[in-house]
Amino acid sequence: MSEKTAATKVIKCSFCDEQAVTVIRYAKLRLCRKHFTDFIVRKVRRSIERYRLIESGWRVLVAVSGGKDSNSLLHILAKLSKEMNFEIIALHIDLGIGEYSKKSREAVEKLCKGLGVPLVVVDLRELIGAGLPDIVARTRRPACSVCGLIKRYVINVVGVELGANVVALGHHLDDLLPYIFKNFILQNLGEISKLGPKTESDEGLIGRVRPLYEVFESELALYATFESIPVVDETCPLTIRGRSLESEVRDFLERLESRSPGFKIGFARSIARNIDFYRRGLASSKPLRRCAYCGMPTSEDVCAFCKLTERTLGKPMGPIVREKVRKVIASLGLVRKSEASN
Ligand code: AMP
Ligand code: ZN
Ligand code: ZN
Repeated sequence: MSEKTAATKVIKCSFCDEQAVTVIRYAKLRLCRKHFTDFIVRKVRRSIERYRLIESGWRVLVAVSGGKDSNSLLHILAKLSKEMNFEIIALHIDLGIGEYSKKSREAVEKLCKGLGVPLVVVDLRELIGAGLPDIVARTRRPACSVCGLIKRYVINVVGVELGANVVALGHHLDDLLPYIFKNFILQNLGEISKLGPKTESDEGLIGRVRPLYEVFESELALYATFESIPVVDETCPLTIRGRSLESEVRDFLERLESRSPGFKIGFARSIARNIDFYRRGLASSKPLRRCAYCGMPTSEDVCAFCKLTERTLGKPMGPIVREKVRKVIASLGLVRKSEASN
């Protein structure tokens, strides 16, 4: 083979003379490292604008687990916060799951230090005197459901105490679509309304946004590698993995995407357009009240977190969590100067 032929074999980036390291089929692009990371940041920016996730001047609380998805989200939002003029604060909840939590916390601390982003770490054992495994051992509920309930509560309390306008979560396209599809198959149409790019805020309830709504998992893995983002590369030891309906649906979606690249993003956009329709499928949601113990929003007399902790630890821990979170935020000098603006 002549030298010339060998040279033409190198696939070049669509935007520069560098060698392409990845092919984006749905956008018909071949990209070098730099243009790939720029492409992802621009894509997230367009989602923020398209779905009106974040406004100029907002304080955004970014919930960061230590995994590649939310760590990449923080890295991307740190870039965008300057050009789009919003403030970011990272939150990590140390759930006390042995080595796994230790490594996750270290990855988040290292990332925030490198980016110069303020970080709030709350340790569940310090907040309520028990880690996630202790609580899971005292209930019959699956670990992931207990974990989700605790995280939702703590994230919301931290958001409220910080005067955040919104909480950003690291869910991406490949997390959300299988659940959307599963809920469609089971005809739980109301549940689909919770899986869109955002949920609106309500009295005492901070809105949640998903800036990675149109980003593939594989893109985040590549982004984290190219940007040398510190991440914990293990799955949580409490996760139960099986051949679930979600994983069947995931394979099915993968086949559709490879047959017609762009299918997943198009589908996600249609869901977002129809969110109001899906919201009507929610069982008549009761008006929000205040938890009798902690004062946080709930549709019952007592919030799910106070109920869970009362049952497992003998005492509703909501009020204690709020008090301790307030102290952590004050000690970090992060109390918002201007009026909280929800
Ligand atoms: P998961 O509940 O594990 O599906 O995580 C969903 C989102 O919640 C992640 O993308 C993060 O934004 C956030 N999150 C998960 N775990 C933590 C954690 N330990 N601390 C802070 N945020 C978290
Ligand atoms: Zn390039
Ligand atoms: Zn409560």
